[in-house]
Amino acid sequence: MKLNIKDTFTTKLPADPILENSRRQVTEAVFSHVNPKKTKEPKVIHTSQEMANELGISSEELQTDFFRDVVTGNEIYPNTKPYAMCYAGHQFGNWAGQLGDGRAINLFEVEHHNKNWKVQLKGAGETPYSRTADGLAVLRSSIREYLCAEAMFHLGVPTTRSLSLSLTGDDVLRDVLYNGNPAYEKGAIVSRISPSFLRFGNFEIFTARKDVKNLKILVDYTIKHHFNHIGKPSKETYINFFKEVSKRTLEMIIHWQRVGFVHGVMNTDNMSILGLTIDYGPYGWLEGFDFGWTPNTTDRQHKRYRYGNQPNIGLWNLFQLANALYPLIEEVEPLEAILAEYKTNFEQKSLTMMKSKLGLFEDNKNDLGIIQNLEDTLQLVETDMTIFFRNLSNFSDENSNLKVIEDAFYDAENISEEVKQLWNTWLNTYAERLKKEKLSNNERKAKMNAVNPKYVLRNYMAQLAIDAADQGDYTLIDELFQLLKKPYDEQPKNQKWFTKRPEWARHKVGCSMLSCSS
Ligand code: AMP
Ligand code: MG
Repeated sequence: MKLNIKDTFTTKLPADPILENSRRQVTEAVFSHVNPKKTKEPKVIHTSQEMANELGISSEELQTDFFRDVVTGNEIYPNTKPYAMCYAGHQFGNWAGQLGDGRAINLFEVEHHNKNWKVQLKGAGETPYSRTADGLAVLRSSIREYLCAEAMFHLGVPTTRSLSLSLTGDDVLRDVLYNGNPAYEKGAIVSRISPSFLRFGNFEIFTARKDVKNLKILVDYTIKHHFNHIGKPSKETYINFFKEVSKRTLEMIIHWQRVGFVHGVMNTDNMSILGLTIDYGPYGWLEGFDFGWTPNTTDRQHKRYRYGNQPNIGLWNLFQLANALYPLIEEVEPLEAILAEYKTNFEQKSLTMMKSKLGLFEDNKNDLGIIQNLEDTLQLVETDMTIFFRNLSNFSDENSNLKVIEDAFYDAENISEEVKQLWNTWLNTYAERLKKEKLSNNERKAKMNAVNPKYVLRNYMAQLAIDAADQGDYTLIDELFQLLKKPYDEQPKNQKWFTKRPEWARHKVGCSMLSCSS
């Protein structure tokens, strides 16, 4: 396996001079060099051929011991120096100080087809940023990250990618529900890939420490390597940088809302500076459409990161980034203007996105009302978001009653007359509104099906793959991986995955409730 290594991060940015792998505060540095831990019995259990192609790795090379050893941290690729990044963050609304890559170790950068990719291992052992934890990851959370990142990519949602999923052969102690019942689980490592793993927190840490010199070095690096089109460093460029990060962050969140993805831990250390979905932890997919839903049990009380609040939290996080960039700009107005623009852009983009889900493309002043009414109606009784929008594309003059969307109801038998009436009212309004559209039914259906996925990684599906993998059977991981490569296609053979969450999964750990334990 010969990779085109082109390290920029470690060659252009200030390194922590201390090489000892001890937990500590690291100042005036963007990263610390640290080597992954050797593992007992590494075994690759799945790889993404699509991602390997992007890096110039052949299918034969994926099978080699060398590949296995590199992606499990047992061998360091020649002439590269792994490192962990130093960053801070606001967690659940509070300043948390230095966090950093506590269990992520970056290996190197690969340039292929004019793209530069960072290769990172998650769960490869402790770093100076591991604080009180062990730097390891367990199989269940690794399967969830591995599958979801690739699924999101194929859904067209900006995201980091997955290259490989491996077992380490080591056991890892975890208290899944934080209730004093720790148990050993199988250790695992995901190799994940991104043009950059920089987070808002990488910038926040320097400003918090009044280290404007290193803040500028990092911002200039980020602009040069990732936002080159906005120009050379200047106050104006820094403003445009913030503007572009705001725009990308909003676009990412609009995609999340479109597909019903709830990140679960939108702390500023989990916000990518490139506007990519990053750090798949206690995320979840909406089953019943519910603005108030969060998969994260750690957030159960305040539901800060609930589905309906994601756009607001994006703005809150951008506010923190604005504060972090302020020392380079020293003017409040342009930053405030960008934050205000986020709000108006959200209204407009959210409306366009929701209209596309409904197959509405003409301008009509009533559309916002129709959408708000739909969102209210969807929350009257538990209604599956994915099935509802997918089946709505079958709606037409001849096919215009409640039957079209009935499959989306979790308890179709027991829907009250009142609720049925409200649904019929909405469907009648929708039917009237469709008359103002120019597309044929078939054309509209095709457009709707291109934005309303048929298959998403429902929480219980990932859990089934985890339960089987725990028993040493990895076939379901592959089945879901293949399924989710074509989420918008009809896949008659896979119809069984186009179904509501089964009742057994309603309250099962991992299916509807997830903690940050991983
Ligand atoms: P998260 O919210 O899961 O992205 O993690 C928050 C912080 O905790 C990050 O700095 C992580 O690197 C760190 N962290 C999470 N799990 C571990 C672990 N098992 N060992 C060391 N650090 C961890
Ligand atoms: Mg994180």
